[in-house]
Amino acid sequence: MIVGAGTFGASLAWHLARRGDDVVLVDQFEPGDVRATSGGETRLIRCGHGTDADYTAMARRARTLWCELEAETGASLYTETGVSWFAHSDDGWEAKSEATLRALGIPVERQDLTRAYPSFAADDLTWVLHEPEAGVLRAQFAVQTLARAAAARGARVVRGRAAPDGDRVRLGDEVLEADRVVWSCGGWLAKLFPGLVDVRVTFQELFFLDGGSGWERVPAWIDYDRGVYGTGDLDDLGVKFAWDQEGPPLDPDADLPPATAETEQLMRGYVADRFPALATARLKGTKTCRYEITPDSHFIAAAHDGVWLVGGGSGHGFKHGPALAERIVAAWHGGAPLPHHFGLHTRERAPSLRSAGSN
Ligand SMILES: Cc1cc2nc3c(=O)[nH]c(=O)nc-3n(C[C@H](O)[C@H](O)[C@H](O)COP(=O)(O)OP(=O)(O)OC[C@H]3O[C@@H](n4cnc5c(N)ncnc54)[C@H](O)[C@@H]3O)c2cc1C
Repeated sequence: MIVGAGTFGASLAWHLARRGDDVVLVDQFEPGDVRATSGGETRLIRCGHGTDADYTAMARRARTLWCELEAETGASLYTETGVSWFAHSDDGWEAKSEATLRALGIPVERQDLTRAYPSFAADDLTWVLHEPEAGVLRAQFAVQTLARAAAARGARVVRGRAAPDGDRVRLGDEVLEADRVVWSCGGWLAKLFPGLVDVRVTFQELFFLDGGSGWERVPAWIDYDRGVYGTGDLDDLGVKFAWDQEGPPLDPDADLPPATAETEQLMRGYVADRFPALATARLKGTKTCRYEITPDSHFIAAAHDGVWLVGGGSGHGFKHGPALAERIVAAWHGGAPLPHHFGLHTRERAPSLRSAGSN
């Protein structure tokens, strides 16, 4: 039984159903709801994670599994735009990522971006690292597709708000038992397991500019040192700019506030620096959402008192869903144990593994 049908829980349901296991997937909302962190149209998939070879390899494996989900369902979930990392030094996150990617045989190149975007200013950049086999996932649709694919293989998808009852699951008047119970509840984990899970839930803002033609097939990009990332104009959403500094706290049950004029101004300042032709482009739309961040930005995947807790996506969890699910299930069945840093121990703050290197 899996409570929480975000990328982590729905991936587990799909993986287990593919093995032929009996699965119940419970969520308080429909899979892909905007109130969940896996809601929203797009998420980047990239392999670069600095010196961390484990996340690098997991992201690469996830790419294969997302493509398998596409093949199994016929759904178009992934657009291989490539992802460009803007480097501000010769020995920073990008150089470390490049070394790790090359060591693992993952395609990567140093790129001249002068013609990659209709407008691009690079005066403050030292070089650009490009992952040609990275890109953008249709997030909400991918989660819905995971749940549908699991259901097609026999999983039961149930709507309801559940609560822990020892190693069982309370759902309305019923108390349900299963051989294994997984709580993959995103930002709600800390409310469900207070004192056990160190997850801060923060408010994050996204902006979409009307760039006009020429911005459809540009590489997605990450400016790790400046804490901003974005994509081209995919699916007519507009050119996406995400202000990736850690936002203020926001309860997972609170309404999502609208985007703020302050952050729009910060975003506009960045756009004027980096993509000057877009500086005055019309704002086509905004979105807001939540991160659920662990202090070291490592995920959570650990057992506690007969149940499993999975989460702590920390602004970079989406892409990993199917590969993390595969690893968790392998660990249950005598395969490689999960890394210590996924555990429930007290964690120290550490540099972020998401697309913002600073806060
Ligand atoms: C704006 C934004 C941009 C991001 N960009 C990227 C990116 O580019 N690349 C990337 O890899 N990651 C990215 N992330 C991070 C990624 O989206 C998250 O780490 C990931 O989606 C978290 O998934 P989850 O399954 O843990 O949580 P969620 O998606 O929140 O799912 C948890 C589910 O649990 C359910 N639930 C909770 N409590 C209960 C209960 N008591 N009973 C029943 N159901 C319950 C909720 O309804 C929810 O559906 C981004 C996140 C945001 C917000």
